[in-house]
Amino acid sequence: MKQRIKKRFLIVVSSILFITIYFIFQLIRGESLEDEQPIVNVFTARHYQIDNEIFKEFTNRTGIQVKEVKGTAEELIERMKQEGKDSSADLFIAVDGGVLNFAKQSGVLQPITSDTLLRNVPKGWRDKDNNWVGIATRSRVIVYAKERVNPNELTTYEDLTNSQWKGKVLVRSSSSLYNKSLLASFIELSGEKEAEKWAEGIVRNLSRNPEGGDKAQAMAIATGVGDVAIMNTYYIGQMSASSDSEEREIVSKLGVLFPNQETTGAHMNISGIGLARHSPNKENAIKLAEFLTSREGQTMLTQGSYEFPVNIEAEMPEILRTWGDFKQQSINIEILGDFHKKATEIFERVGWE
Ligand code: FE
Repeated sequence: MKQRIKKRFLIVVSSILFITIYFIFQLIRGESLEDEQPIVNVFTARHYQIDNEIFKEFTNRTGIQVKEVKGTAEELIERMKQEGKDSSADLFIAVDGGVLNFAKQSGVLQPITSDTLLRNVPKGWRDKDNNWVGIATRSRVIVYAKERVNPNELTTYEDLTNSQWKGKVLVRSSSSLYNKSLLASFIELSGEKEAEKWAEGIVRNLSRNPEGGDKAQAMAIATGVGDVAIMNTYYIGQMSASSDSEEREIVSKLGVLFPNQETTGAHMNISGIGLARHSPNKENAIKLAEFLTSREGQTMLTQGSYEFPVNIEAEMPEILRTWGDFKQQSINIEILGDFHKKATEIFERVGWE
């Protein structure tokens, strides 16, 4: 009897032991599997749905998982700085030449050495030391009510300050990076005094206190609040393809005008990627950067965001093609950030809310 109990006890104990060992083994195996799973950590200040779709496509093709950390560019740069060598960041993605240059100056990036990447992105759209390269561009243009405005009466940013447009100009608030960079480009092109005169003239002609984003300005034209507005090109593209029929209707009433074609050209800005200084998955990061700038990646991007591709081989959406070639400001996009502070001061002085 005793012998039997002892035998049963032994069986139970050894079973528990076996099961425990089995689970521990599985756990270790699972963890190491996760370790082996190739990843790329993307610190991104962009918030466009199409970016996620491109990342998914990249994973499908390469098996490399894309892990996103989102935040404002300033937050992400600060985090990369704080974490130093322990940072998990592989790629940094942000909008605005000034911001990209700020990341470079903060020392959180390193040069990207990839011939493919440099072939994909023309020189004008990357940092001179290749600390970052562009993935898409946009222009800040003038839109007008087709029914009420004769586009021949309006060809430049400066024209918007003429008394003819008093009470008719729409634009978002001065806290927008888009407006800061626009004014920064004027400071670079014609000096602080002229830039301030322009900002003053815009404030004088506003049809209402700045409110809402760029799309809100288009809507305000449609409802007759004003006749002319300053807007980024991609919003016009996105609205023209919107699932919301109201947005499509609004855009159909707008004309798009690329300003300063006889003079300094239309203002441009950029979205870009940089390789993180301490990237733990450098090879994967470069692969993702190459895909994002490839013909296919760029076609996906522009068809989704309606930004202009940097890779000239990409297929742009119809509406972008109808705009045709236009003269662009030929300033070094990196310097925009140098004048953000001055731009902010000017906005304050002239009362651009
Ligand atoms: Fe935007």
